[in-house]
Amino acid sequence: MAPLGVAVLGSTGSIGTATLRVIARHRERFQPVALTAFSNAALLADQVREWRPAYVGLVDAPAGREAWRGGADCLEEAATHPEAQIVLNAVVGAAGLRSTLAALAAGKRVALANKESLVVGGALVAEAARRGGGELVPVDSEHSAILQCLASSGGRPVKRLVITASGGPFRTWPTERLDAVTVADALQHPTWRMGRKITIDSATLANKALEVIEAHHLFGVPFDQIEVVVHPQSIVHSFVEFADGSVLAQLGVPSMELPILYALSHPERLDDGGVTRYDPVATGPLQFEAVRHDAFPALALGIAAGRAGGSAPAVFNAANEEAVAAFLDGGLGFTAIPEAIGEALDTCSDLPGISLDDLLIADAAARRCVRERVTAARGA
Ligand code: NAD
Ligand code: MG
Repeated sequence: MAPLGVAVLGSTGSIGTATLRVIARHRERFQPVALTAFSNAALLADQVREWRPAYVGLVDAPAGREAWRGGADCLEEAATHPEAQIVLNAVVGAAGLRSTLAALAAGKRVALANKESLVVGGALVAEAARRGGGELVPVDSEHSAILQCLASSGGRPVKRLVITASGGPFRTWPTERLDAVTVADALQHPTWRMGRKITIDSATLANKALEVIEAHHLFGVPFDQIEVVVHPQSIVHSFVEFADGSVLAQLGVPSMELPILYALSHPERLDDGGVTRYDPVATGPLQFEAVRHDAFPALALGIAAGRAGGSAPAVFNAANEEAVAAFLDGGLGFTAIPEAIGEALDTCSDLPGISLDDLLIADAAARRCVRERVTAARGA
């Protein structure tokens, strides 16, 4: 059988490079046919030399560069490339939405790392998949865990999803110390090495809010049946409780190569020796704790936005993206991130539409709101 063609969107990022490492161990099964990046031309050039893909896109390309395509449209071109059967979307942020929609509408399997797509446009994503016959498979480790638990139980009625969270670097910090958090502190994630944006999202727990909304859309489970528990070792990737009270979990060392491989091979499992095996004795005790909502208000804000529906999740996501960028840039303090999100949700609460245009308007309004706050903070 010829290898399946894979378009890797965001190939130079943390998930993108991990995907190419996984594919390098399974060359008989998968072949990168399209690669896109935002601005890292040097790494993209190395990847092109190794993989010789049919399509290469660099969003922020200097004009007239070789045979590469430039501009934001290259994501959709790569996502609908005729040689791609699977689109691994590892772009960060709402910038990944159009390519998720385009790939599903073109009937592709989307291996989705770009959770923001689903948070912003959950209903549109489902509609695109229905219309085009595309299939959505999560890359996010928690959702991969849930999918694996469901697959092994024939999808019998789910009573509850319990999504695990590492708790981030400030899990045990007193709440009053969080005002003094530096960018360097926040980028020190205890268990995962990831891109900067999701690392900050993991420190504020905004990432878990995105994941609760993601789970709601992927598995059709109501919000009041989705819980979050802190699990500092990041070994149990999530739990599913079934109607009879039985609970399944999926375990593994914290490496994104496991869920990436499963998203590519689902429902099959491939033989793979690339990731350290889980050793229960060496790992030691597994702990579980309640979320400290007072210290990490972004989680409840995001879940409330998910429950509200309409454009609220798009507002939550955009405000968070903008606030995280400002934090990384020194323009906002750590505890101002959830404050800015809350303010944007209040300010933009009258934008109910859910067409793509409506969502883009809500996204832009939320970003404006946060930018005004940052400008005011700089002037103060
Ligand atoms: P990253 O910052 O390391 O990489 C992002 C990639 O997207 C890069 O290749 C970059 O060139 C590209 N990109 C960035 N902005 C773009 C834009 N506007 N248009 C087109 N391309 C753009 O991020 P990451 O950590 O790999 O995360 C990618 C996605 O995967 C995010 O949605 C994140 O939430 C999700 N995710 C990541 C991890 C992880 O372990 N890193 C785990 C679960 C989910
Ligand atoms: Mg995750």
